[in-house]
Amino acid sequence: MLRRMVWPMILVTLGVFLAPTPVVPQDRGVPSVRAFAMDAVVTDRQGVRTELTSFGRMFGSGSLAAHHGDADIQIPFDRIRSFRVGEMKDSRAPVTVQLVDGTIMEVEIDSQEYTTAFTGKASFGSYRIMLGKISTCTLRKPKPEEPRARTARICPDGHIWEQDDYRFCPYDGKPLKVVTRGEAEDAKESK
Ligand SMILES: [Zn+2]
Repeated sequence: MLRRMVWPMILVTLGVFLAPTPVVPQDRGVPSVRAFAMDAVVTDRQGVRTELTSFGRMFGSGSLAAHHGDADIQIPFDRIRSFRVGEMKDSRAPVTVQLVDGTIMEVEIDSQEYTTAFTGKASFGSYRIMLGKISTCTLRKPKPEEPRARTARICPDGHIWEQDDYRFCPYDGKPLKVVTRGEAEDAKESK
């Protein structure tokens, strides 16, 4: 009976991974980073301090998943001012969370859960850390996008690029002209 159940389960699991990723509609002035990603300053257990943007969970939602008493809870990052991770014991660690309204919460994380992998962007490149390796973390909502980032680059053939440092169209090598995202959208629609 058990054996008969295993294959369908494997196939369903594979299907979830192989299903095409839904196409995210092109933003109009909305930052292209994950909507829930935060700016953060992380100090790890060795005392290394790193300033990050696009900080958030590697998998899943924009919230800190933790155990609170017998319950599993999710605290959205934009409600957290900072948190401090205590000493790990048997893969569990106490976490003191300060909310933006000043409330202090004592929760617990299980470092073996996939919810504890975090990523971010640092000035030097990419950053990845497990929650249990964090000592303290301060979160801040990202600043509104700079107007410069709202521009796009368009080639005479109508190829649109959002990368700030592109000067020539990677498709055909033609020089790119800087336009606003709105102009780029209009150009795309009139094609
Ligand atoms: Zn082109």
